Amino acid sequence: MALHSREDIRSELEDDIYASRDLSVAVPKYRLPDDEQNREHAYSIVHDELMLDGNSRQNLATFCQTWLDDEVHRLMNECIDKNMIDKDEYPQSAEIEARCVHILADLWNAPDAINTMGTSTTGSSEAAMLGGLALKFAWRNRREAQGKPVDKPNMICGPVQICWHKFARYFDVELREIPMENGRLLMSPEEVLKRVDENTIGVVPTLGVTFTCQYEDVKAISDALDRLQDETGLDVPIHVDGASGAFLAPFCQPEMEWDFRLPRVKSINASGHKFGLAPLGVGWIVWRGAADLPEDLIFNVNYLGGNMPTFALNFSRPGGQIVAQYYNFLRLGREGYTKVQSACYDTAEFLAAELAKMGPFRIIYDGDRTKGIPAVAWTLNDDANIGCSLYDLADKLRARGWQVPAYSMPAHREDLVVQRALIRHGVSRDLISLLLEDIERALDHFRSHPVANPLGADEATSYHH
Ligand SMILES: *Cc1c(COP(=O)(O)O)cnc(C)c1O
Repeated sequence: MALHSREDIRSELEDDIYASRDLSVAVPKYRLPDDEQNREHAYSIVHDELMLDGNSRQNLATFCQTWLDDEVHRLMNECIDKNMIDKDEYPQSAEIEARCVHILADLWNAPDAINTMGTSTTGSSEAAMLGGLALKFAWRNRREAQGKPVDKPNMICGPVQICWHKFARYFDVELREIPMENGRLLMSPEEVLKRVDENTIGVVPTLGVTFTCQYEDVKAISDALDRLQDETGLDVPIHVDGASGAFLAPFCQPEMEWDFRLPRVKSINASGHKFGLAPLGVGWIVWRGAADLPEDLIFNVNYLGGNMPTFALNFSRPGGQIVAQYYNFLRLGREGYTKVQSACYDTAEFLAAELAKMGPFRIIYDGDRTKGIPAVAWTLNDDANIGCSLYDLADKLRARGWQVPAYSMPAHREDLVVQRALIRHGVSRDLISLLLEDIERALDHFRSHPVANPLGADEATSYHH
């Protein structure tokens, strides 16, 4: 280094970040920069850009965790290098994952919880793929043993989350999705029976339907399939999509039979990162018994040392979320989960009651813990006359940082536009009282400034999960 440039460099080192040379220009966005940058400068650029994201705690569209305690942050940091697939190098993380599987099998009343099979996944979507594949393989094995064709598998569900549409398309299964109908927004046993045949690999009820947040009646569907078996011999298994509900019903609606207490329920998926209270990136699938997971889905690998069975779509995967899930199990126990989830239900019921009092809204689901998850779904009364659409209202609330999406229902009820709010851990009664004030203020605004041309589904800026 030339002596005369020393002073320059020293002064540059002491520069204020925002007065530095690096930050005096906009960085290239779509090509790799030519030069290195000071790491604090680069950090500030990225950190600041992230301010433009929404504020996750105010996002009432998502089912996922947005509040995590300090211990979770610490464990996530401690696990940043742990690769979940590498069970030989990280045997204790593998042990923790296995404990979580058995804890869940027990929570969901598996008859032999300690010996059943299950795995963590990246979320319920991957869990759904595995659950669907297990149903497909088991059906194919049964059919082949009987010498029958295996080219036309189908699966029956109600208004499902997109992951089941993906499963059906990616793995070539016909999805017989029961459409909504006037007052019926969920699957019913009668509609299931109309669609079952010998090529049905399984029926998938949802515990916490995405669109209305309500539980589908797993017991009634199971009973109907029992009767079908008595009459025809057809034995159709059930997989429960318990993405949200499988972490709620065991604590807040323990008498409800939706899980392995029903012999027909062969597998259950849940999102650890939703009401499991773990950070983003963990889901679970558990089979009723080891025999319900077809062996041809299991691979044994030995190139990481040891001989490990694996059944997952991913290979390398971070371990922190699983460790944090286990921490939550230990930290909260049944008592803590019940308290956290009950507080969410209480707040959801409060929100529903206050919205109903305002006048223009008709509550579709009011957060009743016997019927669904802690959330509220509402629509406009026919005579609401609020000077705007629910899409405009959602848009207006967004200006205060709230994400409370408006969206139209799926097949056959596209005419019905609803708005939905999820009440999660960390969405407090006080926050909801602030939201209610903002809704009142927005209604006042539209009353005095009605929208000439209200937003429709196509132009709405918000989105839903
Ligand atoms: C969220 C959700 C999914 C997808 O789960 P991810 O954990 O986001 O992959 C599937 N089904 C239902 C009912 C859901 O709510």
